[in-house]
Amino acid sequence: MSNEDTGVIDGLEIRPAGEIPRAAIVSVGSELLLGDLTDTNATWLSSQLRDMGVEVVHHLAVRDDTEEFVDALRWLAARVHVIVCGGGLGPTSDDRTRESVAAAAGVSLEHHDDLEEAILQRFAAMGRSMPPQNARQAGIPKGARPFPPVGTAPGFAITMTDPEPVRVYALPGVPWELRELFHRDVAPEVQAIAGARATVTRVVHVIGRGESDVAQVVEPIVGDRDEVELSFLARSHEIQVRLTVSADDPDKAREASQPLLEEVIDALGGSVAGVDEEGLEDVVLRLLGDVDQTVATAESATAGDIAARLGTVPGASHGLLGGMVVYDTDVKHEVLGVDRALLDEHGPVSEAVTRELARLARERFGADWGIGVTGCAGPEPQNGLPVGTTFWALAHPDGHVEVHGRRLPGDRQQVIKRLGSAGLDLLRRRLQER
Ligand code: ATP
Ligand code: MG
Repeated sequence: MSNEDTGVIDGLEIRPAGEIPRAAIVSVGSELLLGDLTDTNATWLSSQLRDMGVEVVHHLAVRDDTEEFVDALRWLAARVHVIVCGGGLGPTSDDRTRESVAAAAGVSLEHHDDLEEAILQRFAAMGRSMPPQNARQAGIPKGARPFPPVGTAPGFAITMTDPEPVRVYALPGVPWELRELFHRDVAPEVQAIAGARATVTRVVHVIGRGESDVAQVVEPIVGDRDEVELSFLARSHEIQVRLTVSADDPDKAREASQPLLEEVIDALGGSVAGVDEEGLEDVVLRLLGDVDQTVATAESATAGDIAARLGTVPGASHGLLGGMVVYDTDVKHEVLGVDRALLDEHGPVSEAVTRELARLARERFGADWGIGVTGCAGPEPQNGLPVGTTFWALAHPDGHVEVHGRRLPGDRQQVIKRLGSAGLDLLRRRLQER
């Protein structure tokens, strides 16, 4: 059916030799346009296609409207080699994918008895009988290759030939069904269309520097090489430097990216908090494991976010002993043991109190390191302190405590994330310095 080298499907050349494979993703459903649903399917499909070396050049969302859907398909057909549609394959009258793709391809719908049988069996497997209207899901465009359902909705692949051959895939909108069908029925064919090509994205996680500062360091290193795409992603708690490199296969792409990656890491120095899948939390726990040490937290403004982030790392218990959420001022005194006079004199959001949080976290949990954080996350100022006022402290294994303070930018969510990262990153830096 497909030819490895030339991107030919059923005798039709989908991607002319020498062209970079281009794809578009169409998400179907009025909910997407009404703002009721976030299009996570498009994001996921993009990352899958990118890894296969396919350039995704358009994301489109369409309403449950046949005319608009057909228009969109015709517009895209002149621009890409592959279109992946998600959603609109259900049994109700607002599910328009089957008829829209058929209309755009200039064919009628054709009922597949074996698909109807497969749907019947899917229902039987759930101990239910198939509602009569679900039989229409077995009607797919004439000439299409059917994808038997993994949930209850079958998908299909068909080639539109006007103006140029374009391979169109229709997948159900339910995310797990879309993913399973993509892996089983779409990925092998798209890889054949794309030819021997792969892309890897290397990620450098940077904490404690602004985006433009990071760009100034990295841009001259990457320069304007054709084979590398550089992008910056500003998250609330970090800047990601992303280097995307293409080659004939994933191993070669990875190999080609390595020297450049190392140069970038060198130039950014101590502000590199992690590389690729290894983020700040993973690095902290790995470094703690290397020296067989532990950490505990006492968190006010972050309300446990630091401990929770460490806890997402598999096997965290070797390094994370525990943490206390000491949100309320009385609780800081009564439960953790912060001196009442100190709280009265300096206020809960202060250098002096944060120092005590770190010291007491270390002491009460019997950990090697203690992290303490306080702050005013907003949206309203607190006790005369502006939003973003934060302190973070680290109690060291020898008992001494260092405290830092800054006014962090952003909304409540961002201040919480940034403060948590500041506390964790301080520990990361000290562990790396040893
Ligand atoms: P089918 O799955 O049979 O194609 P459909 O697209 O009409 O039918 P919906 O009933 O619209 O499916 O959605 C089913 C589920 O899939 C919903 O829970 C919805 O949240 C989710 N979903 C649909 N499209 C997307 C999308 N683009 N991104 C994330 N989730 C989606
Ligand atoms: Mg729908």
